[in-house]
Amino acid sequence: MQLNDQSLLKTEAYINGQWVSGIDTLKVTNPANGQLLAQIASVSAEQTQQAIAAAEVAQTLWAKRPAKERADILRAWYNLIMINQEDLAIIMTMEQGKVLAESRGEIAYAASFIEWFAEEARRVYGDVMALPQSDRRGVVIKQPVGVVAAITPWNFPSAMITRKAGPALAVGCAIVVKPASETPLSALALAELADRAGLPAGLLNVVTGSSREIGAVLTQSPVVRKLTFTGSTPVGKLLLKQCADTVKKVSMELGGNAPLIVFDDADLDKAVLGAAASKYRNSGQTCICTNRILVQDTIYDAFVAKFKAEVESYKIGNGLESDSTHGPVVTAKAARDIDAMVQQALDAGADAITGGGIDDQGECFYQPTVLTDVTTDMRVFREEIFGPVAPIFKFSTEAEAIAMANDTEFGLASYIYTRDIGRVWRVSEAIEYGMVGVNEVAITSDVIPFGGVKESGMGREGSKYGVEDYIETKYICMGGLDD
Ligand code: NAP
Repeated sequence: MQLNDQSLLKTEAYINGQWVSGIDTLKVTNPANGQLLAQIASVSAEQTQQAIAAAEVAQTLWAKRPAKERADILRAWYNLIMINQEDLAIIMTMEQGKVLAESRGEIAYAASFIEWFAEEARRVYGDVMALPQSDRRGVVIKQPVGVVAAITPWNFPSAMITRKAGPALAVGCAIVVKPASETPLSALALAELADRAGLPAGLLNVVTGSSREIGAVLTQSPVVRKLTFTGSTPVGKLLLKQCADTVKKVSMELGGNAPLIVFDDADLDKAVLGAAASKYRNSGQTCICTNRILVQDTIYDAFVAKFKAEVESYKIGNGLESDSTHGPVVTAKAARDIDAMVQQALDAGADAITGGGIDDQGECFYQPTVLTDVTTDMRVFREEIFGPVAPIFKFSTEAEAIAMANDTEFGLASYIYTRDIGRVWRVSEAIEYGMVGVNEVAITSDVIPFGGVKESGMGREGSKYGVEDYIETKYICMGGLDD
């Protein structure tokens, strides 16, 4: 891996400000060509306990420092991330597969959470309230929750860490991060930059290794007061159960099954481009990727023709090559899982009007695929596809579109294309999702509350609301004021 700064490539875990080897190693490979990139530390349960203990000590001191001082260190971290954007993007493309332009975008997006929360944490206010008794006043103060554990996925190897570490550190918490095993190098490079920014030892720890073992230690520890998780719904449910015994505060950013509804009054060209961008971003591996395209029957054929032409203009390839528009999926297993879902649809009568299989370029490359003649009992309607496959369904009325959109246990992102303002409000309010994009699919940033309802999770990340998940509200009754 050729970087401007080779020292960003770390293979040891980061505990209490030290780089430490584990009890074993994990292999990190490039999905574009199978190349072994690194062997990284796999830490023990005991080392995870050490990270928690270091976080506890560091947190007490950190919480006492003025928000401005914490913000200054976070600002320095933000600057270093942006200065090293190109190297961080190369690391990400090599371990995750997404094209370099997307990796650069994710680094800027990741950094924005550090900047945002450094600014926002200076505006954490309390309240004073009149009580029923004249000699008393109620005071509410906000305090950091304490030691936070974060478990993050491979599809956004950097941003899903900073969206948690940013608010946690800004308000005075310490954090122990367990990144996904496919993409630990991005996490470790972020830790190196936090170290260079002057973040005191113990506040940010990155433990790599067996998710089951590390996850058990993090969830069982009474010192860990909050778990923030981004990943699949089944693992989220498991972690929720594991957190029950110590009654932790939890944030869960889980899977999605986003509908994108195109009504017949929509700007068709914009709807086609929006649907394709949302569906195929990161080769279909984002939790807010459009999963189901629902198109009104009167414009269905026109939409499908334009959508197919757009998708056929894509070029899949190694994310480091400048003419690649889309990279591989993360692992060969992921490609096989996507293919199984497509084959189930084809066997049940769907038509792959473009794509439809694993590409000749390699076992991790899945062809951008468009499916028509799809029905709501197929897996591509019911499950999160997490790959570059677009099933296009037909509806006839607004009520039918709403019912189809809501016919899922998920509720993360959703999109509607229409120029009727009444319909915008009716549908936005009727669909059960945490986020609705109206005539727009690029809906995320540091300033918006990101999160879902139903089995897509709980809590919000980013925005002024994102601070709430990392603070406790304490009430102090001030008595004896008449004396
Ligand atoms: P995943 O399999 O749930 O893994 C996510 C993280 O959980 C990884 O760090 C993984 O570690 C860890 N993990 C797995 N099993 C565990 C266990 N038994 N105990 C503790 N930790 C465990 O999800 P993924 O495939 O990486 O990510 C894709 C999913 O994330 C999709 O469902 C996507 O929709 C969702 N996602 C949601 C959001 C959101 O904001 N709502 C954002 C991005 C992604 P190992 O890798 O070491 O196994």
